[in-house]
Amino acid sequence: MQQLLVATSNAHKTAEIQLMLGPSWRVLDMRAHPALALPEETGDTFEANAIIKAEGASRELQDVLVLSDDSGLEVDSLGGQPGVKSARYAGERATDADNREKLKRELAKMPGAGEGARICARFRCCMAVARGGSVLRTFSGAVEGEVVMAEQGEGGFGYDALFVPEGFAQTFGELPSETKNRLSHRARALAQVIEWLAAQPEK
Ligand code: IMP
Repeated sequence: MQQLLVATSNAHKTAEIQLMLGPSWRVLDMRAHPALALPEETGDTFEANAIIKAEGASRELQDVLVLSDDSGLEVDSLGGQPGVKSARYAGERATDADNREKLKRELAKMPGAGEGARICARFRCCMAVARGGSVLRTFSGAVEGEVVMAEQGEGGFGYDALFVPEGFAQTFGELPSETKNRLSHRARALAQVIEWLAAQPEK
């Protein structure tokens, strides 16, 4: 069985990646290494932060194949926010619920709010694969859609209950996880990772 360490403590991300990779992969995350802390995410882009996390974890864990995921929601009318700050939009210790509340508050301040205007947005994900402290490659994926002002659905995490992907009438919080895992930003980046890994010589 092939093993991959995801440089995250976000159990939701790890579970999605394990489901998408399937049973031939053993997917672990930083919860398996509680003494190790990931470096601070000081980058201005998803790619920069994905590289920081992948390099940091793989420097500490030599010979382990590391995958990082930096992702977030970009809302056009908010100039791309929350963007790279998606996880800490409402503050350093913010919960997913705090971040969703802040997003709704910020959107309510926008001109034309509440008049049924479409709130165009996308989830973006950048993944980096690293070994021995060096990044081997980066990959990115995005899914376009709209933000809604009322939370719908209990599934998923983060902003899922507020995001309706293009071509659907339900939020990621309402859609079955199989649907999200087929079309999400993470699924699209991971599909490229899988293709690339398959083309690598066995180590
Ligand atoms: P990161 O751990 O710094 O990459 O932050 C990711 C943050 O972006 C999460 O905490 C969520 O708030 C948001 N996010 C990323 N991917 C998703 C998703 O698939 N659904 C909902 N929110 C997401």
